[in-house]
Amino acid sequence: MSEPILQIAIPTPLRRHFDYRPPAGIDPASLTPGSRVEVSFGRRRIIGLLLGVAEHTDVPSHKLKRAAALLDKSPVVSTELLELLGWASRYYQHPIGEVMQHALPVLLRRESQPARRGSEHWQLTPAGLAAMEQTQKRAPKQAALLASLQARPEGANAAELDSEHVNWRPILKKLIEKGRVEMSLRATLPPPSEQRQSAPTLTGAQHTAVEQLLQQRDSFHCTLLDGVTGSGKTEVYLQLIERVLADKRQALVLVPEIGLTPQLVERFRARLNTPVAVLHSALNDQERYNAWLAAREGEAGVIIGTRSALFSPLPSPGVIIIDEEHDLSFKQQDGFRYSARDLAILRAQKLDIPILLGSATPSLESLHNVRQGRYQHLRLPERAGAAVFPRFLIQDVRGQKLEHGLCAQLLARMQQHLNQHSQVLLFLNRRGFAPVLMCHECGWHARCARCDAHLTVHRRQHKLRCHHCGSEQTLPETCPECQTGELLHMGLGTERVESALQEHFPEARIVRIDRDTTRRKGALQELLRQVHAGEVDILIGTQMLAKGHHFPDVTLVGLLDADYGLYSADFRASERMGQLILQVAGRAGRAERPGEVMIQTHHPDNPLLTQLAAHDYPAFAETLLQERAQAELPPYASLALLRAEAVDARAALDFLQAARDSAGPTGADQPLLLGPVPSPMERRAGRYRAQLLLQASDRQTLQRFLQHWLPRVEQLPDSRRVRWSIDIDPLEMF
Ligand code: ADP
Ligand code: ZN
Ligand code: ZN
Repeated sequence: MSEPILQIAIPTPLRRHFDYRPPAGIDPASLTPGSRVEVSFGRRRIIGLLLGVAEHTDVPSHKLKRAAALLDKSPVVSTELLELLGWASRYYQHPIGEVMQHALPVLLRRESQPARRGSEHWQLTPAGLAAMEQTQKRAPKQAALLASLQARPEGANAAELDSEHVNWRPILKKLIEKGRVEMSLRATLPPPSEQRQSAPTLTGAQHTAVEQLLQQRDSFHCTLLDGVTGSGKTEVYLQLIERVLADKRQALVLVPEIGLTPQLVERFRARLNTPVAVLHSALNDQERYNAWLAAREGEAGVIIGTRSALFSPLPSPGVIIIDEEHDLSFKQQDGFRYSARDLAILRAQKLDIPILLGSATPSLESLHNVRQGRYQHLRLPERAGAAVFPRFLIQDVRGQKLEHGLCAQLLARMQQHLNQHSQVLLFLNRRGFAPVLMCHECGWHARCARCDAHLTVHRRQHKLRCHHCGSEQTLPETCPECQTGELLHMGLGTERVESALQEHFPEARIVRIDRDTTRRKGALQELLRQVHAGEVDILIGTQMLAKGHHFPDVTLVGLLDADYGLYSADFRASERMGQLILQVAGRAGRAERPGEVMIQTHHPDNPLLTQLAAHDYPAFAETLLQERAQAELPPYASLALLRAEAVDARAALDFLQAARDSAGPTGADQPLLLGPVPSPMERRAGRYRAQLLLQASDRQTLQRFLQHWLPRVEQLPDSRRVRWSIDIDPLEMF
């Protein structure tokens, strides 16, 4: 009998697996797919993943190498995950070796037998707890550190302290010397808290939702939990998870990147009688591996994480939950461009378990699936507890004099709220002082030398910066072109609004939250702490403010420029604008005091805005769905985007043209090929970019076409001269 052939996924950009002979002297029965295999590849030793065992290979026998060793006694990737990843590799047209990487923590990709080592954690001692009050007065930095540790009775790791404090190690060292903090090495998860919080009495709508979900918890159902901000969606998740845990099963919870806050994790830990594994980008390789082991060994009843946590091992899966399912961060935007939401639904289906998609502003895709009868729809129309939904005011600013972007009515209303000792939140999705610097004399504009873009004025740091490639230069004093003209700051950024507000409300304590003010580790946490401690009157910020935060003392939200979403070239812009407006509005009046939201606009009669203002997201979504249906855009069509970029101005377009030509004439049952065209921002970071859009009536049509076409594209001589990628179901069109 001939030797079996091992089909191995190897992390390379080649779109196929590689065949090897089994390691010498191995029992063929031990060759289980999903195990790691060490092989020589080119001149390197590499760890690959066994996909399957075959009887034949096309590789001539003298070229067939022998694998060096089988590394695992039992597979590290379950059959179920192998199938999911295999499917994803085909659907997203991404090389199998690179896709398989996503299922394995880095340590398993690098080391044959990584150890489960403890990582450092710090905890408050009883002496530390007793000393908290006196420290508060004498040593504020020590006190802040103690407070972070107090908030994490299970101990804090370095990543967590990094995210909240600057240069904390020397301070911690002092506290350890004083016996107020102790360090322990931890390789397992913190045990569940002994004094668990009890659940509130559910509202009627929550109760109905939980009952329905509990009845269906033994098989695949996809449910959209559509509940306004603060309606108690998280409470529904918690009650469902409690029962799933009682059934001795695990829950996988995916949250957006920005939504994974310590408060959310604490809420899960405080309520659930199970160790909670948390997976986020700040973990080091060892911590990530430990969390993976905790999931795999069933120690963690709940795994909560961002996008890639989808690939966690689940030996006894019970439910998958996607919080804020409309969020863009569930789609990976480079490399393996998968949608974690879409793959999670497929995973739940294969596992035959329920999946719950939660949002206050569901994506049009999910609403469409509800209408098609593919998802069940559960609604939470009211806020839970005492809070009521804020009142919307649409403020027509046409012809009005604006003071640094703020109209008189908004300024007056801010004054009223400040007089009542409430906080005000202003939202403007543009950082910097002004987006354009222009000469009044000769019309010169400051443009980026490497991008088709204006440079943004950052006045405080005295810089001009490109927000697309990061290049920067000193802010010129005079016009570099005519040497005489006055330089004008055109347009509005958060920094400008901040300084204008400082003049208008000299007494007010103002905080700006955007990427510029939060670059330093721990800075965001410190600013948020000030807001929560009532040390702030006005917050101005970008979309960093839109998610995950509760600002109970904010009673007025002002949206300075809601119009940008109404006329962007991206067909998804209005959907995003609406979601952002409602999410920002949802920060207001979450406690007992009702909130108000003022939207400044030049289009007060725009139906999209009036629907949002009437709290009618369903009507808003309906308007957009009709537009999409007419334009044959998703969710009524399936798209793929072939992107290319090159230093040479023509190369990307030429490659895409050749790609298009290689398709030959396309018939009625094939996708439309639109383009190639230069990308809306053609040059970025010194490279010229272009794109070819594929539009099909449905996924199958698109997939059938791609299967034949992409191998030809790959063979084109130009394919090695440009950087190119294919994006299936793209969310960003540029
Ligand atoms: P969402 O996830 O929809 O934004 P949360 O579950 O975070 O909503 O609930 C919002 C607030 O209302 C939280 O402070 C939560 O503790 C509270 N809450 C939720 N459900 C109830 C309830 N049934 N009774 C009282 N308070 C509730
Ligand atoms: Zn640039
Ligand atoms: Zn000039």
